[in-house]
Amino acid sequence: MKAILVREFGAPEVLKLEEIPTPQPAAGQVLVRVKAAGVNPYDTYMRMGTYAIKPPLPYTPGGDAAGTIESVGAGVTRVKPGDRVYTANTLSGAYAELAVALESQVHPLPERISFAQGAGVWVPYGTAFHALRHFGDARGGQTLLVHGASGGVGIAAVQIARAMGLVVIGSAGTQKGLDIAKLEGAHQVFDHTKSGYQDAILQSTGGRGVDIVLEMLANVNLGSDLKLLATNGRVVVIGSRGDVPITPRDLMIRRASVRAFNLWGVTKTEEKEIHAALVAGLENGTMRPVVGKELPLAKAAQAHKDVMAPGAFGKTVLIP
Ligand code: NAP
Repeated sequence: MKAILVREFGAPEVLKLEEIPTPQPAAGQVLVRVKAAGVNPYDTYMRMGTYAIKPPLPYTPGGDAAGTIESVGAGVTRVKPGDRVYTANTLSGAYAELAVALESQVHPLPERISFAQGAGVWVPYGTAFHALRHFGDARGGQTLLVHGASGGVGIAAVQIARAMGLVVIGSAGTQKGLDIAKLEGAHQVFDHTKSGYQDAILQSTGGRGVDIVLEMLANVNLGSDLKLLATNGRVVVIGSRGDVPITPRDLMIRRASVRAFNLWGVTKTEEKEIHAALVAGLENGTMRPVVGKELPLAKAAQAHKDVMAPGAFGKTVLIP
């Protein structure tokens, strides 16, 4: 089969399309025919060799895919050949024509969701739901700032929060990004490249502040996020690419908190709850992954450059 292989850590160009033996599912495993693979920022950190998880070389990147079950190993009962699924991680890597996964890593993909959309389910929607439900303590009627609402996680958060009855404020750095955040459910949108936009956000809440910030770039925004919080407000750090100074007194006067997580660390109980919500949300149309760009598998290097460039617009997916 064809697969992307990383033989050395480094720049996007280390992603090479190769012909490799098709993996076979052992007991408790399934073989997925990948119809689309999602490209996530962590795929690029891992490729650089600087991420907390450093796979042994050579490896095939990717944890998010959608496709059909090709075959199953002994003892597999939850799925059968032909079933449509999305993956939440794989054993052999998603940037490939076929991928082996544990039976527990595949979940039903409703008919209304295309394979390209299905490749943008686990990391974006799992993260957004986990952030709102388990860390943000989000409740209907509360006010939420999705700081970075134009990308994979941000759009997911906007859709979920809107359906939960929150007042949703979104930010993006381009008109196209602002438009998609609005279209997917943000009540108000602000351009995070414009000076003074934080003041405009505060004014839009009548000076009260927001109850929750979901932060995609904490190293830039955490210090100013604290000044946007209402009493008992919380910032949930989702993304960060460096250090940032903060004023602890901003937390003290608001009885506020900063919370953070990594999706790799979800507990079994949380994971079960997340997938139940994801499948239901995909079924009932609450969760509608937005595919910004589809590229052939051979263009994986281009996809890695795109996902790190400003001007996000939904998901970039690779088609084997
Ligand atoms: P993405 O699709 O590339 O989107 C990136 C988002 O960040 C876009 O909305 C982008 O907006 C926004 N952004 C850029 N500059 C910003 C600024 N100054 N202030 C606020 N937002 C800004 O990435 P993603 O998949 O949504 O992931 C977002 C971040 O979360 C990444 O850093 C990723 O590594 C991290 N993440 C963490 C976890 C976890 O487990 N903690 C899970 C998933 C993702 P514009 O392009 O419109 O400017």
